[in-house]
Amino acid sequence: MKNIDLEQQIKSKFSDIIKLKNCILKTRTMTKGTVYTLKRKCGNQNCKCNKNNELHSSICLSYSNKGKTKLKILKTKNEINELKKETIKYKKFRQCRAEIVKKFNQIIKLINQYENKIIKKVGEKNEFI
Ligand SMILES: [Zn+2]
Repeated sequence: MKNIDLEQQIKSKFSDIIKLKNCILKTRTMTKGTVYTLKRKCGNQNCKCNKNNELHSSICLSYSNKGKTKLKILKTKNEINELKKETIKYKKFRQCRAEIVKKFNQIIKLINQYENKIIKKVGEKNEFI
């Protein structure tokens, strides 16, 4: 690759990272975990799931706490909607973070290539002494 192409690629990766930075800094709150529908017997003797021998659906948040997976049953529509939004924000944040890590690794590789191109080696044709 020509020096000018390397320069262009390095510049373009940096501007990609600047765009990704906004995704990180615009996120003010987020919740780690996943909201999903859990189907099980709820344990309540008087519930229809026990009487009719069927599974009870409840929407829950699954999250990790001190290395253990915990479940929180979500009771209200507000709580469900809020946590759905919050967990999606967390997923986007993590995707964005991963993309930044990838871009930085690519930048380092390009910088190494650039270094090899522009370095003047003693004893070779382009020797400057
Ligand atoms: Zn039930």
